[in-house]
Amino acid sequence: MANRAATGGEQVRQSIRFGRIAGIPIGSHWSVLVIMLLLVWLLALTILPASAPGEPAGLYWLLAVLAAVLFMAALLAHELAHALVARHYGVRVRAITLWLLGGVSELDGRAPHARGDLFIALAGPIVSIAAAGGFAVLAAGASLIGLDPLVVAALVWLAIVNVVLGVFNMLPAAPLDGGRVLAAALWGLGLDRAAAQRVAARAGMVFGAILIAAGLAQVIVLAWLGGLWLALIGWFLITAAGAETAGTRLRETVGDLRVADVMTTPAVAGYAHQTLDDFAARVAGGSPHRSYPVLDIGGRLTGVVTLAQLGRVPPARRPTTRLADVQTPRDRTAVLDPQTSLVDAAPLLLAPGHRLAPVLDREQLVGVVCSGDLTRATELASLGVRPSRQQDSPSATTEGRAE
Ligand SMILES: [Zn+2]
Repeated sequence: MANRAATGGEQVRQSIRFGRIAGIPIGSHWSVLVIMLLLVWLLALTILPASAPGEPAGLYWLLAVLAAVLFMAALLAHELAHALVARHYGVRVRAITLWLLGGVSELDGRAPHARGDLFIALAGPIVSIAAAGGFAVLAAGASLIGLDPLVVAALVWLAIVNVVLGVFNMLPAAPLDGGRVLAAALWGLGLDRAAAQRVAARAGMVFGAILIAAGLAQVIVLAWLGGLWLALIGWFLITAAGAETAGTRLRETVGDLRVADVMTTPAVAGYAHQTLDDFAARVAGGSPHRSYPVLDIGGRLTGVVTLAQLGRVPPARRPTTRLADVQTPRDRTAVLDPQTSLVDAAPLLLAPGHRLAPVLDREQLVGVVCSGDLTRATELASLGVRPSRQQDSPSATTEGRAE
């Protein structure tokens, strides 16, 4: 649905990866499983029996599963279209994640010109409409050669949902594809890029509010609970449009700053085999941070520890407990790439409960960055000053700690 420059961290943690297409990692948020089950259930018990009655129950379930899988494949094709066109314009595609109401292509950076943005946004809906056409032709063919009406019904349903997907996404309201088309068009017509994106995001909020009102009206006036879906989608649109506006505003202040520009380097780190007492005395005492990357003997990141975690270990056990025993392990730690833009890193840095992200360049720890660094950069930017990289306090290099 939307092609947004999402920060990998949060999304990756909640999603299941299942391979690559054209070199792009493809994943799925856990909510897709719920939607799939709901879809299969709806198709098997309601939609298919209504359009092709009198078939054996098992056949309904079989066709329902097939149709739901094909629907997901069409959704993936929509996202792949965004991603491949983005790559054509030199925008790196980090991953594609299927999600509750569609998919997200995680793009790094933006197209260099309005035409690029326009084609990236248009590619998805075009593929959805083309898929709809394909399923319609197959349905007509299946009907002509006299295939089971159930097969025809499933193909007709696939054609309809893909038309709906294509058309809904072309509504001129960010973060829908149509909103991006609108922003690209306004940009191409001479408005500056940020202003164009603000207009599209505002349209997204207005449209979201209309959907919520329409949905609630259906629930209240028509006593039809299906209206809740509409309200839910409206709420999602408003939230996403709000996030877009915040992103645009941030982009205007911190501009092209990257993680590397604001991170603290070299990073103060502990070693996995170091005891808590040793770490506290030799490292934590002389540094302003409250959480620290932990490295193995080869210098690879094994996790992150916070002072609070260390404090929870009884004093008597601190001389023998090692950082490796208390750290939050690497696979549950959000890490950043030095080249990631601050705008893209912002959602992760500002996430509740987040303290500090190790910055890794080809698996080498090159620095750490925290929400304070981002806030400092925005405040400096509003003063017209570009932040200089922060040096960490006395002799606190990762090298210096190698025992
Ligand atoms: Zn799309």
